Amino acid sequence: MHVLVTGGAGFIGSHLTQALLARGDSVAVLDNLSTGSFENIKRFRDDARFTFAIDDINNTLVLDRLASQADAIVHLAAAVGVQLVVERPTETIETNVLGTHAVLGAARRYRCRTLLASTSEVYGKGVKIPFAEEDDLLLGPSSRSRWSYAASKLLDEFLGLAAHREFGLPVTILRFFNTVGPGQTGRYGMVVPRFVRAALAGKPIPVFGDGEQSRCFCHVGDTVRALVALMDQPEQTAGEIFNIGSGEEVTINALAQDVVALTGSAAGIQHIPYSQAYAPGFEDMRRRVPDTTKLHHVTGWQPQHRLDRILADVLAWEQAHADTHPAQEELLPA
Ligand code: NAD
Repeated sequence: MHVLVTGGAGFIGSHLTQALLARGDSVAVLDNLSTGSFENIKRFRDDARFTFAIDDINNTLVLDRLASQADAIVHLAAAVGVQLVVERPTETIETNVLGTHAVLGAARRYRCRTLLASTSEVYGKGVKIPFAEEDDLLLGPSSRSRWSYAASKLLDEFLGLAAHREFGLPVTILRFFNTVGPGQTGRYGMVVPRFVRAALAGKPIPVFGDGEQSRCFCHVGDTVRALVALMDQPEQTAGEIFNIGSGEEVTINALAQDVVALTGSAAGIQHIPYSQAYAPGFEDMRRRVPDTTKLHHVTGWQPQHRLDRILADVLAWEQAHADTHPAQEELLPA
């Protein structure tokens, strides 16, 4: 297969590119390197089945050319990360909505199988745990810019499902829950790399809020396995939404303690109010747990990595790349 991966120089995209090349597919990456980096993909440069375009998904000429050569498009390019979304809401909405509109237009022209990255954020403040694909979605008010990320991704879902219903395009929606692993940047509010980097730098681990909010962290290797399994089953998955995530729930306080234990950090944990970390009135979800019954039913997928293995992998990667870490001031929110 020839696969176009938008956002392929990002965290999930580069792991996906590696997995696809390893199984014999050709991969074209389209990425503007806004949150991704050339570092993530330079190891593929010498592979004749790999091509790379540094450009924006809203450049329709480039997108059209790449889509014309693709059997499948995995659309991962997006404005990502709570901090980025809160600081630059206009960019978030434009990239996520207009970009997905452009990708679906190109996919329609060349009848490409299309997988769209959505997010567990669309479940918003829902309290029915675990979250299943057909559950109601409960977003906060539009006066709080953090909800623009969920709303923009939700509109992407509607656009993708409409392209399937109206034009028969084989579109699948992937609702990723927190995905972590080697190579994830901590710059935009990603909690696990931020914690590990703070501990390695001998700084207190910055926990936002009371730390009793919980998350389920899925290893990027497991996420990519699920994605590829869904891509390989167009008949059962076209026009469908799938949660992808681990069911192992942990509070952020417990996560911080795990990182302290793993790294031997003596600097401890520092609680920072949300209002200081982001903006006054910031709203967070208390729990976010996926129901992956549907994914398991269609693909047989189950996560293979538990949190201790994920943290060990992240720590090993951070230690090996200590020289490329961002400046220390980026460890704490502005
Ligand atoms: P990432 O920031 O590492 O990857 C996004 C990539 O898109 C980056 O390489 C960035 O440079 C690129 N990009 C952004 N805007 C672009 C544009 N206009 N044109 C071209 N490229 C552009 O983030 P990630 O964690 O790998 O996320 C990948 C996808 O998965 C995103 O759509 C994100 O919303 C979704 N997602 C991720 C998580 C997670 O936990 N990592 C959770 C939920 C959803």
